[in-house]
Amino acid sequence: MQSNFLIAKDSSSAMTLSENSPEPAAAHASTTEDFAHNLASIKARIEAAAHKAGRDPASIRLLPVSKTVPEDRLRLAVAAGMDFLGENKVQEAARKAENLSDIPGLRFSVIGNLQTNKAKFVAQFADEFQALDNLRQAAALQRRLEAEDRQLDVFVQVNTSDEESKFGLPPEEVQEFVEQLPQFDRLHVKGLMTLALFSENKEAVRACFVRLRELRDALRTSAPEGMKIEELSMGMSGDFELAIEEGATVVRVGQGIFGARALPDSHYWPGFAGEKSSAPKPAAE
Ligand SMILES: *Cc1c(COP(=O)(O)O)cnc(C)c1O
Repeated sequence: MQSNFLIAKDSSSAMTLSENSPEPAAAHASTTEDFAHNLASIKARIEAAAHKAGRDPASIRLLPVSKTVPEDRLRLAVAAGMDFLGENKVQEAARKAENLSDIPGLRFSVIGNLQTNKAKFVAQFADEFQALDNLRQAAALQRRLEAEDRQLDVFVQVNTSDEESKFGLPPEEVQEFVEQLPQFDRLHVKGLMTLALFSENKEAVRACFVRLRELRDALRTSAPEGMKIEELSMGMSGDFELAIEEGATVVRVGQGIFGARALPDSHYWPGFAGEKSSAPKPAAE
């Protein structure tokens, strides 16, 4: 189940991969070569996990998650081949999109919770929004997208962990929710997104991924006409191989590419209590 595929030659920047628990964070990347190296090792792990699961690696998109990474380092990441970046916080993402607007073809996906009053930022710069979970938000995005004359790919966020999280719809409410979405013609529904339980218990994490897949499978037949819910955005640095095993089509990997973050995950997912942090204690940036 866990890949022990080891591609790194240079132990100073290599991810430590033991068979049972790979360190989720890469060493701090600070040159284009570091980024290319980290990117290649994550891609190799995606490929190995896909083959193991009998899946085509090309059916899995790696979304590098660049939150907290400043613009100067992002330029190096782009030079290493990253052209679609995931950001958790809207204002941080808007600032980066603005400061990096000279880079042709660079796109942003907003993957974190969005307050309705910030929908206008997403409408201005984002190509994708992965945390759609209420109708007021959908209406605000639609209105702002019309004003900007833009379109947006969206994923519906689902709470698959039964945590008292404020974010994501309970699985049983997703069907009714997606039935409301065709009225928002600027939003193109692509699939479902989830944050799995933070737990050392692999089977508990896997159950979250299975739940999202089963929900997607059910929606394939019951979604409104013309809506194709195919994508499954699930899996992060600590659990993407498991997610691939369960059908992920998008994996969101931050620390495995950029290195550990200084701030704990609770900063990004308020109210999302976990049994453990997804990252080891970070080295100071
Ligand atoms: C930060 C973040 C990730 C990536 O987490 P890593 O542990 O850095 O891989 C994935 N999804 C969301 C929603 C995030 O905010």
